[in-house]
Amino acid sequence: MKIVLATRNRGKIREIRSILSSRLPMPVEISSLLDYPHIPHIKEDGKTLEENAIKKATTVASHTGLIALADDSGLEVDALNGLPGIHSARFAGEEGNDKENIRKLLNLLEGLPMEKRKARFRCVIAIAHPSGEVHTVDGICEGIIAAEERGKRGFGYDPVFIIPSYGKTFAELGEEVKNKISHRAIALEKACMLLGTLLKKWSSLGE
Ligand code: IMP
Repeated sequence: MKIVLATRNRGKIREIRSILSSRLPMPVEISSLLDYPHIPHIKEDGKTLEENAIKKATTVASHTGLIALADDSGLEVDALNGLPGIHSARFAGEEGNDKENIRKLLNLLEGLPMEKRKARFRCVIAIAHPSGEVHTVDGICEGIIAAEERGKRGFGYDPVFIIPSYGKTFAELGEEVKNKISHRAIALEKACMLLGTLLKKWSSLGE
């Protein structure tokens, strides 16, 4: 069986490929959008993480004729009614970057006590068959937004996302711990189980 990952992000490709290849019950050949340079950029214009993940997975499945897996994630802050959510990557504007996104977030939450700074990272993974059949799973990681940046590792909002049970931010904890408890790790775990079932079903249909 062949699966294509609907991303060109090398970090994501490495992480997803290593988890899938060690956990799936049958051998799979895993490619990514790096192997399909002709597929154009897919605009993430959905209103939810689910819509974006489904759009990416179904578009790539129909272009390649292969089973496709796509993910979309974001940070949801309770005090901001779920923002930045789908806008996480560009919260501070199209030209924004991680530093500016964090600065905007901390400014919006300035003065709020810890009990009002609850947030969660959410990751949605969509798995699409070229026939149009599509399934989603999600992973959630609960946390608290710190009053200031802490730690040097990770990316995005990692320096301000505190995991209460560790009392440390993702940027202080580093990859080894993060990859066990993160939203993406949880969603990938569920995706592996679902893919195991789907691959058996689709291969028995001769596809
Ligand atoms: P993506 O859909 O995984 O590319 O994530 C979109 C945006 O959400 C990223 O650009 C980050 O700003 C934020 N984000 C998603 N996952 C993480 C994470 O694990 N740590 C920090 N920020 C994240």
